[in-house]
Amino acid sequence: MPDKSSMSLMRRRELIIGLAAGTVLPFVPGCADNPALGRSQLMLISDGQLAQLSDQAWQDSLQRERVLRDPAYTRRLQRVGERVVQASGQTHHNWEFVVFDSDTVNAWVLPNGKVGFYKGILDIMATDDHLATVMGHEVGHVAGRHSAERASQQMAAQMGVSLLASAIGSSNSQYAQYSNDIGAALGMGVTYGIILPYSREHEYEADRLGVDYMAGSGYDPRQAVDFWIAMSTMNEHHVAEFASTHPSDESRIAEMRRHIQARGYA
Ligand SMILES: [Zn+2]
Repeated sequence: MPDKSSMSLMRRRELIIGLAAGTVLPFVPGCADNPALGRSQLMLISDGQLAQLSDQAWQDSLQRERVLRDPAYTRRLQRVGERVVQASGQTHHNWEFVVFDSDTVNAWVLPNGKVGFYKGILDIMATDDHLATVMGHEVGHVAGRHSAERASQQMAAQMGVSLLASAIGSSNSQYAQYSNDIGAALGMGVTYGIILPYSREHEYEADRLGVDYMAGSGYDPRQAVDFWIAMSTMNEHHVAEFASTHPSDESRIAEMRRHIQARGYA
């Protein structure tokens, strides 16, 4: 992470350049409508800040993990990923799909469209529909702006909304003091190197969006149910990181089935 003074300097420079070009609207912390979710979200983090932290987390992951240079794996991930992203409409991100050489059963997507799948999870995905299940779900978290919302909620809870508003409103340099807290709350910090578990509400939203993206990209949404059931039984035998952050209990499966029925995918 750059130190505080260089971060605030960078932000100020970006802001000046942006204002001169007329492209940057001043960021006002508050509630923002999310059309993908059809609801409004508490948003205390600007897109610029989110992008900066995501880029940092991505660079850190590329250094920490070993990238698998097997074209069969990489092409499969890219093929499915690009189709799902097209269907999601989230094409404004600069998407990148990387396979990590590890038996870890895990996958994650950063808010800037950087996608990491471990060899271990790809090996248990018998069909591309299974891959599209996880891809759709993860892209759903991006469309739902879930990590920014979670970080905003945590910031509000920790600091108190009025204190936070005054800190953010007063100056860029004071805002920069909170950058590390934001990074940690986003769950993609250098220290952790993992994506923190999401709330149940976020998981269900990502499931619904993921199923929609599967259908939109020509995959079979019913295979999402099969895959999550398989993941839950697998979790009983050995700890899979992905399953531990994505508990697929009965109500979750039932909710997914209900959505598939309601949309007419079945
Ligand atoms: Zn999730």
